[in-house]
Amino acid sequence: MKVSIVGAGIMGLGTAWALERLGHQVTIFEQGPVPNPLGSSVDQHRLIRYPYGPAEGYTKMVADAYAIWDQVWADLGETLYRQTGTLCLGQAGARWHRDTLATLERAGHAVERLGEAELARRFPLIEAANVDEAYYLDSGGVLFAERIVAALAKRLAARGVEIRAHTPVVEIDPDRGFVILGDGSVIGADALVVAAGPWAPRLVPSLRRRVKPSRQVLAYLVPPDDLAPLWQTGPMLLDIDPDVGFYVVPPRDGAGLKLGDHRFSLAGDPDGDRAGTEAEIAVGLAGCARRLKRFDDYRIDRLKVCFYTVEPDEKFIIEPVGLSTYVMSPCSGHGFKFGPLLGSAVAGAIDAGEPGDIAAWAAGAAS
Ligand SMILES: Cc1cc2nc3c(=O)[nH]c(=O)nc-3n(C[C@H](O)[C@H](O)[C@H](O)COP(=O)(O)OP(=O)(O)OC[C@H]3O[C@@H](n4cnc5c(N)ncnc54)[C@H](O)[C@@H]3O)c2cc1C
Repeated sequence: MKVSIVGAGIMGLGTAWALERLGHQVTIFEQGPVPNPLGSSVDQHRLIRYPYGPAEGYTKMVADAYAIWDQVWADLGETLYRQTGTLCLGQAGARWHRDTLATLERAGHAVERLGEAELARRFPLIEAANVDEAYYLDSGGVLFAERIVAALAKRLAARGVEIRAHTPVVEIDPDRGFVILGDGSVIGADALVVAAGPWAPRLVPSLRRRVKPSRQVLAYLVPPDDLAPLWQTGPMLLDIDPDVGFYVVPPRDGAGLKLGDHRFSLAGDPDGDRAGTEAEIAVGLAGCARRLKRFDDYRIDRLKVCFYTVEPDEKFIIEPVGLSTYVMSPCSGHGFKFGPLLGSAVAGAIDAGEPGDIAAWAAGAAS
């Protein structure tokens, strides 16, 4: 079958990877370069972790995601992932932590609860006296996102997948699987996948009332010299609280120490200004000042502005549109880890000629 894909982020590439393995002929259209630094998928790293609040479906999907990443590493001939462990910190009794602990227990994950003394002993970067609730999982780590996008694109091109960079799709015909390019040319296929990240609502109008583009500011941090070695073996930090809501990605393999704000801005335009301000990450910085020792001695190296779309319940939208098209909108800041898994599901649905339960599964329905 001939399949067109709009977008060379992790969803488009993950889908192309799975389709090519099933023997289909794939063309990817990407409006910018590949990797495109404006895409959601292109930053030094993205996290994969089991703690997921009450979301039992996504918690279970993480194990399946790891299994498919292993196939990707085997195919690429390199592992673009490092396990770091996951340290969750929070207010006593905060809902996200209560829900996470219950979900992890039901799913059979070993979680270590840490009291203040144990937290201080095991994780000397943390200001343990300021933490009410702490628990740790050995699992979880860092996916080197930009390197993964680049390596997948290279691998796919070597296998005969056509990747047309700097080729924006201006319109689609979801019933016939056509894409229309800026010069008016119409390119047909048996099936079409729209994996256009925060730009997807422009091509698929039905998404406009369901998802909202959200500008998110990240801060790359430099710790004081004497703490830098501790970070090289330090865990990811999750402090997912409705009022604070930040996470810290530990440095590994040359990729930096990064602070992200888990709260959604729900504002901005992915084609707009990409200069960030410290004010936009102020809540995350305040969170770090409370949770990390000597945070005054850290400095901000640079800010990065990324976009994703937000679905109100943080669910992924992966559905058929029209007669020949699937839209992939794995929104709300947690889709990267699932890229090859979701891509394999879409490839399977195209191959089988029917969607099955893909929409409910992608929306996080626990099976
Ligand atoms: C700040 C931030 C932190 C995140 N943290 C995590 C995390 O820790 N863990 C995790 O799992 N996920 C995380 N995510 C989410 C994850 O990065 C996204 O879910 C995922 O990258 C989305 O991939 P995508 O392929 O759908 O979109 P994108 O990567 O944006 O790819 C879409 C591509 O389509 C192209 N395109 C758009 N329109 C057109 C068009 N008309 N014609 C041609 N090409 C077009 C774009 O240029 C782009 O390259 C985070 C996201 C952000 C922004």
